[in-house]
Amino acid sequence: MRYAIEPPEVPGVRIEGEDQLFPVHRIYCVGRNYAAHALEMGGDPNREAPFFFQKNPDNIIVEGGDFPYPAKSSDVHHEIELVAALKRGGKDISVSQALDFVFGYAVGLDMTRRDLQAECKKHGRPWETAKAFENSAPLGRIMPASRCGHLKEGAIWLKVDGRMRQEGNLNQLIWKVPEIISYLSGYFTLKPGDLIMTGRPSGVAAVERGSVLYGHIDEIGDVHTKVV
Ligand code: MN
Repeated sequence: MRYAIEPPEVPGVRIEGEDQLFPVHRIYCVGRNYAAHALEMGGDPNREAPFFFQKNPDNIIVEGGDFPYPAKSSDVHHEIELVAALKRGGKDISVSQALDFVFGYAVGLDMTRRDLQAECKKHGRPWETAKAFENSAPLGRIMPASRCGHLKEGAIWLKVDGRMRQEGNLNQLIWKVPEIISYLSGYFTLKPGDLIMTGRPSGVAAVERGSVLYGHIDEIGDVHTKVV
């Protein structure tokens, strides 16, 4: 049967070195996953189990597109993150097999309306208004794991207008990529095309209109966007 209206497009992310797009199915995000940032936000980095929230697939910005300052907020923060892109799906995936499900990695920004998030936390409400808004996920190109491997360490940083604002190392991730995939697949049936944003190092801060954000992870690539 045909669709009554034009079906929405599948959002796509360029793959580094290839003339192809990675189709985005879902975007899962991990909360508080770097030791220093968990402390910064008042948590205990040793004891907290991972927790997840989601963004919408069409929240992505690709190819360095502008980030429009969102409505209803005056405290929008940047969070630079390692993003894992899945090529296979499944549930109850073991930690030892999890990396076989990874197509590649990208650098992403989990843009956050921090003031709305604080309200959500205070009242025990869901986080969508704080996290899953239009253009809330600027992404760089996906580097295939066949080229970069599965990195256990490497610098991850974000500069705002040329000044270092977030700096960390992938070896500071509390929950590693295979553990995240395994844990997540216990709650959801993962699918090819899923993206997982793995959490951010410390140093989150507010952005201003006109700011240029430039993030980088060694061996994987970059992400950049201008706040307009
Ligand atoms: Mn985040």
